[in-house]
Amino acid sequence: MSPSPTTALRTGTSVRLHGVTKTHPNGPSLVRALDGVTLDLAAGSFTAVMGPSGSGKSTLLNCAAGLDTPTSGRIAIGDTELVGLSPDQLTRFRRDRIGFIFQSYNLVDHLTVTENVRLPLLLGGARPDPAWERYLLEAVGLTGMERRLPRELSGGQAQRAAIARALIARPAVVFADEPTGALDSRTGAQVLSVLRTTAQELGQTVVLVTHDAAVAAAADEVVFLQDGRLAGRVRGASVDEIALRISELAR
Ligand code: ADP
Ligand code: MG
Repeated sequence: MSPSPTTALRTGTSVRLHGVTKTHPNGPSLVRALDGVTLDLAAGSFTAVMGPSGSGKSTLLNCAAGLDTPTSGRIAIGDTELVGLSPDQLTRFRRDRIGFIFQSYNLVDHLTVTENVRLPLLLGGARPDPAWERYLLEAVGLTGMERRLPRELSGGQAQRAAIARALIARPAVVFADEPTGALDSRTGAQVLSVLRTTAQELGQTVVLVTHDAAVAAAADEVVFLQDGRLAGRVRGASVDEIALRISELAR
């Protein structure tokens, strides 16, 4: 990958959650999707979030990214407290500082790769930076595919386009919800490596939900959730150790 044409990147943004709870009404009772999560992720860290289905991973990510509002608790991205921002402020903050990658890519069918990648800039009224765009497309291995439509891409290519789109506005923090979940393991590993490399170059903080112990083992730290609560954090664990831990939580 060639060196980034841009040096003025916003780096060094931490993600902090304090006592974050999210409940949903469920008939006469409440579902606690998140139940008092306190978590401090250092600026520039790469964190994997794991846990059984329904343990609150997506809710955690959506709340931390400002896509969803917690019922109680505080969330800070860098110096900005999300709770208390107006909807407009939140939208602007998200657009400027946060990249989000979904399992299902969420590319717009009738737009080309380039148009999809530029979309966040257009929505934000920012002008595309051709050098940066070329750099990103090269970084994710899509040079030469700029004019393809999503249906002309493989799953791995579509997810790499979604990564370029998530990075185009140079977000300080990138959230990814099972970005490799719909891909075979080899393609998943490639996509992950792209995400890791660009994050490192940009000094981004990355929070990634995954079911894949091999993906999680490549992170600096793995955070486990169970029943909406933090169920442990490990650093430097092997694939086998992580797989064992997750099978214990799923019991
Ligand atoms: P995960 O991503 O770990 O599978 P989620 O964060 O999607 O878990 O969901 C956590 C819990 O909250 C689950 O029990 C889920 O059914 C519930 N939940 C999530 N969103 C809603 C909603 N909009 N309404 C009701 N329950 C919800
Ligand atoms: Mg989920």
